[in-house]
Formats: sequence, structure tokens, C-alpha cells
Amino acid sequence: MRLDRFLSEATELTRSQAKRALRQLEVSVDGEVTRDASYQVSDDQVVRWQGDTLERVGWRYLMMHKPVGVECSLRPTHHPSVLSLIDIPQIERVHPVGRLDLDTSGLLLISDDGKWTHRVTSPNRACVKRYRATLGEPLEEGEAERIARQFDEGVELNGDERPTRPATFEAVNDTEVLIGVTEGRYHLVRRMLTAVGHTVEALHREAIGPLELDPDLEPGECRYLRPEEIAAF
Ligand code: URA
Repeated sequence: MRLDRFLSEATELTRSQAKRALRQLEVSVDGEVTRDASYQVSDDQVVRWQGDTLERVGWRYLMMHKPVGVECSLRPTHHPSVLSLIDIPQIERVHPVGRLDLDTSGLLLISDDGKWTHRVTSPNRACVKRYRATLGEPLEEGEAERIARQFDEGVELNGDERPTRPATFEAVNDTEVLIGVTEGRYHLVRRMLTAVGHTVEALHREAIGPLELDPDLEPGECRYLRPEEIAAF
């Protein structure tokens, strides 16, 4: 990693403040003062700023059980941000990986690794997101099969040019259904259910690709991902 980036990640310094600290000869690598912002720092090197040894922060990857009533936006307007529920250093560096609506609960990933975020959210990777929806009114006889066929063929959504990508629909009982989608459009699942004649009482995301929401997490809680969970994308 470049030295100026290392400094900005391990301290409160912005990238330009880090460059200034280098010019002012405040930084050493393995005991040698350096002003080279592009110097590549390796994992075993000791970087000091104004005499303090810096810990590398590294990328952070978390899963949250998002409760309803918090916004995924970084600049929320009417409700608290999901980030207000997390207590980690340098919180301003992390972002939600994809979004859930204010009224949707469930698995939300959070990271500061832009490349990883892209891998999780890229439409080309077609990562399946699984939702559990509670319907406002029960399914009728034979309706689940009809909706499953419609979802598989793609649903026309009001105001969208393209139909949805093939999605899965499975009834757990007459008001609870599991839906698997591979894209991320505004209010996608709610609009798909509206398009087939249903209202949604509750929507909860259970899984993103290979990653299931940890059942030990209560709404509002989060935990760091394990290395194998990060590598699964
Ligand atoms: N689809 C929705 O309608 N809402 C979400 O939050 C996620 C998917």
C-alpha cells in the first residue's frame, strides 16, 4: 500500500494532510524518515508518525441485522443512518454494500473495501439475494405456481424499460414467501409483488449469495465477517 494511503487509513489525516506530514518529515518507515508518498509499505514494516507507531487498520467487512426504521443512505434525511448503530474506529470510511429500504430488515453488508463492494454488487456477477416476504393477503390455490412462472420469465415493472431478470418465488405457507433476485433496482421485490397483485406486510433479506444472516444477531447488531465469508465473494 502507498505510504500516503497507509497514513490516511491509520490516522485521522486526510490524504493531503498525510502528504503534508511527509513533507514536514514527520513520518518514518523502519526508522528512516521519508517524504516519499508513493513508497510501497509492506506488512512487516513499522511506520511511525510524530513518534507514534501506527497500527494498520486494514479493510473492514461487517454484517448487520438491519432493523426497520433506519436508512442505508450516508446522508439520511428523516431517520437515523445504519452507520449510527455501529461502533468502530473511523466509521466515516465505511459504507453499506447495496441498500435496503427503510421498511426492510435483514442482512446488510458494510465495508470500506471498494473492490470487494463492487464484487458483491456488480450486476455481472448476478449474486442471488434471498428475501422473505410476508404478504398482505394469502395466496390462492395454484397462485404460487403462476407467480413462480412469471418471476422466472421476468416481470414488467411500472416505469422500467426492461423486465426483471429471472427470479425465483417459493411459497413457505399462504402468506410467507421466499424470493431470489439477482439485480438491485429501486424497491425491486415490493414492485415485483405489486406487479403480480400482492401487497407486502414485511420484507426481510435472509442471504446475499453464499452469506446467510447470522441468527445470533439481533436487529441492530453487527459483527465482523470471518475470512472465509469475505473470500466467498
Ligand atoms: N426490494 C425491495 O423492495 N426493498 C428492499 O429493501 C430490497 C429489495
